[in-house]
Amino acid sequence: MKIHEYQAKEILARHGVPIQKGKVAFTPEEVEKVARELNVDKLVLKAQVHAGGRGKAGGIRLVNSAEEAKTVSEQMFGMKLVTHQTGAEGKIVRRLLITEAADIERELYVGIVLDRAKSQLVYMVSTEGGVEIEKVAAETPEKILKEHIDPAVGMQAFQARKIAFALALKGALLRPAVKTFMALYDAFVANDCSLAEINPLVVTKDNQILALDVKINIDDNALYRHPEIMEMRDLDEEEPHEVEASKYHLNYIKLDGDVGCMVNGAGLAMATMDIIKIAGAEPANFLDVGGGASVETVENGFRIILSDKNVKAVLVNIFGGIVRCDRVANGIIEATKNVGVDVPVVVRLAGTNADIAADILEKSGLDLLVANDLSEAAQKVVQALETK
Ligand code: GDP
Ligand code: MN
Repeated sequence: MKIHEYQAKEILARHGVPIQKGKVAFTPEEVEKVARELNVDKLVLKAQVHAGGRGKAGGIRLVNSAEEAKTVSEQMFGMKLVTHQTGAEGKIVRRLLITEAADIERELYVGIVLDRAKSQLVYMVSTEGGVEIEKVAAETPEKILKEHIDPAVGMQAFQARKIAFALALKGALLRPAVKTFMALYDAFVANDCSLAEINPLVVTKDNQILALDVKINIDDNALYRHPEIMEMRDLDEEEPHEVEASKYHLNYIKLDGDVGCMVNGAGLAMATMDIIKIAGAEPANFLDVGGGASVETVENGFRIILSDKNVKAVLVNIFGGIVRCDRVANGIIEATKNVGVDVPVVVRLAGTNADIAADILEKSGLDLLVANDLSEAAQKVVQALETK
């Protein structure tokens, strides 16, 4: 799960990462109030969206007074922020973080991710922090230092010192730097993060270390252990159809094609997407309705697939293992009646009672195209698209 910068900062600050004073606001009036409370000469207004690259897109603004903060925030609230991470549709700005502005001497990058190949967390750092870190990673990867952390012993102080030296954080900066790196690691582990990143970590002109921008993602499978983080979820930032699907415990990911897929089992769902592509079409979604596809899940699945206006045909590919095919067939008939399907539907059912299921679908009087195997199903769906 993704959370906002201001929420991530709250979490990291609790573990000892130094951050600027600041507060989130939802209206220009609140912005002015927060700015007055902060009572400093220079402020930063930061659009809170689940995407980076805000600086370059106009989502980070420096202002010099509470009045100016209010005026500028009026332009920012409601704006559509298009960054290299949002896609062309962009993200609407609904929340602003107001912080005191830092005077920046140097911008560094530090982050922790999981190195799956090594089964270890890895600290990645670079002296080239700021808004160009993707370019650094792509063009001069030697400028990124990696330090793996042994899970059996956890992060050691000598590793934090090694990172500090690599970033030329010496003298009076060494101690706060080491503390910050240990704190980021602690926060990562304590909150079951899948990513924790400070970019930039800055050295200020008065020689302080500050986490200017932070990002943390939480492992969804561990969220049940963190009810306080679960409350930070911002549904405005998520794909609406995916939010709807999660209510019914359906694994749904929206894609760009026009063939809606209803499949049980993640492996079969991926195989189905493959055969659709091989047959020359593009899947509109990944959808795993789960092992025991009931009438209700099939119906909800149809509703979600069809709410995507790009869908021109649906391919149902269900293997009757835990669930019998005849029950699925009845579910499909029920669901298509209730939901009102106005695109061609190709159905391929295999497994227990597949023959009975085929018979039920045949006799249903509904305009369903029955297929016997995967490639036939894919061909039929492509034909249906072409003749539409
Ligand atoms: P991002 O573009 O979404 O990664 O947002 P950041 O919070 O990282 O801000 C982008 C850039 O804006 C930073 O790299 C800084 O150069 C600048 N910036 C952000 N906050 C401050 C601040 O407090 N003072 C100054 N001088 N610049 C800032
Ligand atoms: Mn940043």
